[in-house]
Amino acid sequence: MRYHIWTVGCQMNVADSHKLAAGLDRLGWASVEKPADADLVVLNTCSIRDHAEQRALSKLGALKKLRSQGNEFKIAVMGCMVGLNTDELRRRFPYVDAFARPQQFEPIMEAVGYEDLGGEFWPATFETPDGPTAYVPIIHGCDKFCTYCIVPYRRGRERSRTVGDIRDEVEHLAARGVREVTLLGQTVEAYGHDLPPEAGRSRPPDLGDLLRALHDIDGIARFRFLTSYPKDMTERIIDTVVELPKVCEFFNIPVQSGDDAVLERMRRGYTMREYLEKFHLIRRKVPNVAITTDLIVGFCGETDEEFQHSYDLLAELEFDKVHVAAYSDRPGTIAHRKLEDDVPQEVKMARFHAIEQLEAGISARINSRLLGQEVEVLVEGQKTKADGESPWYGRSRGNKLVHFSGEAKAGDLVTVRIDRASAWSLVGTADAPAAVPARP
Ligand code: SF4
Repeated sequence: MRYHIWTVGCQMNVADSHKLAAGLDRLGWASVEKPADADLVVLNTCSIRDHAEQRALSKLGALKKLRSQGNEFKIAVMGCMVGLNTDELRRRFPYVDAFARPQQFEPIMEAVGYEDLGGEFWPATFETPDGPTAYVPIIHGCDKFCTYCIVPYRRGRERSRTVGDIRDEVEHLAARGVREVTLLGQTVEAYGHDLPPEAGRSRPPDLGDLLRALHDIDGIARFRFLTSYPKDMTERIIDTVVELPKVCEFFNIPVQSGDDAVLERMRRGYTMREYLEKFHLIRRKVPNVAITTDLIVGFCGETDEEFQHSYDLLAELEFDKVHVAAYSDRPGTIAHRKLEDDVPQEVKMARFHAIEQLEAGISARINSRLLGQEVEVLVEGQKTKADGESPWYGRSRGNKLVHFSGEAKAGDLVTVRIDRASAWSLVGTADAPAAVPARP
């Protein structure tokens, strides 16, 4: 039997897809590239933005057409588009065989004839690595309820996995050639608050404790963690990043707006002053740190002046990268019920492009500082370009994409001298692979 999984959205979705794929592999199924060759097609969806939902809907339309041409695969929809109540979805898409909420694979497995696989079937050590890097969810769900966000309703409240459970999974990955592990959570620093204290301790474990507990695993050269929630970031976690050589000097700390009134309408739970305190603490304490952020423009009621505060903030802080999104109203959120989506679309897009342009200049400037310097790169693979060249590619400790020529293989840690730099990537030449672990 064969399956095809299509995934959009965050790294949590990617991890969920891997877990489902590993379950199917374990039952003797094989993955195929084309839906037409499959017995089961799974769409793992995202509803954070309208655009992601539209892509899933258009995929569904294409699958319906394929089936009407005689292909007999089952169709399953999983992820954040699937809410508590699936009646409405069933009515709209009667040809879909199964709807499954994030991490709840049972309806999909039942649709292809596997009843009662039981909890034992989905062990923690389940991810199938498809390269030298892997995502490992450490905390599921979110308790924050930002007004624009659907995640707490679809992924539920925060639930941490135990340190032992996570360590088992990382050891499993290391034994299968994984060299870099990204620990995932919607609010990753919230890790552990819902766990009991470990033996000999009076407090529950936090992200710093977890990183220390994983750090000695043989074969793993790097750890990262995503996504930070500014209010949950602590000095102890920042100190852990500085102290542990395998933990990369990389933070993604979404700011979402540079204006206090907008942050309050978003119910982000912090002010700009509090955000800046955390930001500067990280910059001060972590040498060579790379910091990226997420920003929403055109949120309900955002005035020109409020937008300007976001623009000025980005110009001042010079993030390594900004993931910018134009706000889109999501049914089911607090903002949908209580606030008016009143910024015209053309204004949202003008603000979006202004931020993109600003950030392209900043990223190019930051990256140009690396010209002539040596950076440590974890090799992920090789790509053949139209001109016939096949450079290797991988990421620096600061999570920057680096293409390079030289001797290497996937999973190597190499030192690359940077010869060219743009806003989007770096190009260089590699020395021989370094011993593990290494640091710049
Ligand atoms: S912190 Fe806010 S934006 Fe992030 S997942 Fe939770 S509710 Fe959504």
